[in-house]
Amino acid sequence: MKLGIVGLPNVGKSTLFNAITKAGAESANYPFCTIEPNVGVVAVPDKRLDVLQKMYDSKKVVPTAIEFYDIAGLVKGASQGEGLGNKFLSHIREVAAIVHVVRCFEDSNIVHVEGSVDPLRDIETIHLELIFSDLEIIERRIQKGQKMAKADKAYQAELELLNLIKATLECGKSVRTLNLTAEEQELVKSFNLLSYKPIIYVANVSEEDLLEKGGENKLVQQVKEHAKTENAEVVVICAKIESEIAELDEEEKLEFLQDIGLQESGLDRLIQAGYRLLGLISFLTAGPQEVRAWTIRKGTKAPQAAGKIHSDIERGFIRAEVIAYDELVAAGSINHAKDKGLVRLEGKDYEVQDGDVILFRFNV
Ligand code: GDP
Repeated sequence: MKLGIVGLPNVGKSTLFNAITKAGAESANYPFCTIEPNVGVVAVPDKRLDVLQKMYDSKKVVPTAIEFYDIAGLVKGASQGEGLGNKFLSHIREVAAIVHVVRCFEDSNIVHVEGSVDPLRDIETIHLELIFSDLEIIERRIQKGQKMAKADKAYQAELELLNLIKATLECGKSVRTLNLTAEEQELVKSFNLLSYKPIIYVANVSEEDLLEKGGENKLVQQVKEHAKTENAEVVVICAKIESEIAELDEEEKLEFLQDIGLQESGLDRLIQAGYRLLGLISFLTAGPQEVRAWTIRKGTKAPQAAGKIHSDIERGFIRAEVIAYDELVAAGSINHAKDKGLVRLEGKDYEVQDGDVILFRFNV
């Protein structure tokens, strides 16, 4: 599950992507490898892992990871084949969610493709490219659907949904804005429309605005207002500072952040926002060898969660011994928690929760 970074030229995408790949390289002792030059893999920051490492005196901490895909080159007219147009749009089709970087910094040395800095216009430009591309797909589907509906009435409902989507797109609205039933959502997902993908806006501000005004300026305000209308999240960062932070080791990074009065780097906030946006949660395993976070989708049942660790554990699943992270920390140790009867035995229908610390029992 990848997040795709999009945006007009010169807004700071490469700078942000470099920060991501550098941060990923920093964590080279983690079991992720570089896949392709335009894919950056970074650890999902999780303070719970450090607490558990101390508690279990574990040798190793293994965080979970998330992938960012650099989709440079999206320009006005892409859906009409401008630039490398359709190729880039097809790359966006492969990602699960979109990170749209918008320029909220003024810098007369860095030209803006449209001649001035205006994040709302930039958002609209990209938005329309996605809408045009979706319209093309939907129109093709409608043509096919009309034939199918003639032969088989079962396709009538699908055709009606397609027409509703078409009308929405023609009004310039994202498919994301439609209120759909669960069944319709599944169907629309299968169309793989760009404007149906969840989105985060990254407002890229100048060093001064980040350091002196906590990342607030009137352009950021505009982006936030706009995002509210779409129920989208906004992460304010300074890409330049992020790429500098990514050069530092963990200790230097904390010191630097403290110096500038921040708790977390912008990149860490972006990673966490992306993780949430994808509907992902982590369960944890802990022992003297390692503490580790594992990614699952919200709603995953215990055996399938076990399958993330190894398919044998899923196949031979007997039960899960589960305790919520907070309860474990309050108890002080897993043995205290067991004594107090806080460790639950859960079966195959148990829906794993974020922060569950789990030991799976299974037949080999
Ligand atoms: P891209 O075309 O969207 O990939 O943009 P780049 O990452 O190449 O950035 C374009 C220019 O803007 C480069 O000269 C960057 O150094 C500069 N830039 C990017 N982010 C920032 C920032 O946060 N502050 C300032 N002042 N310049 C930035």
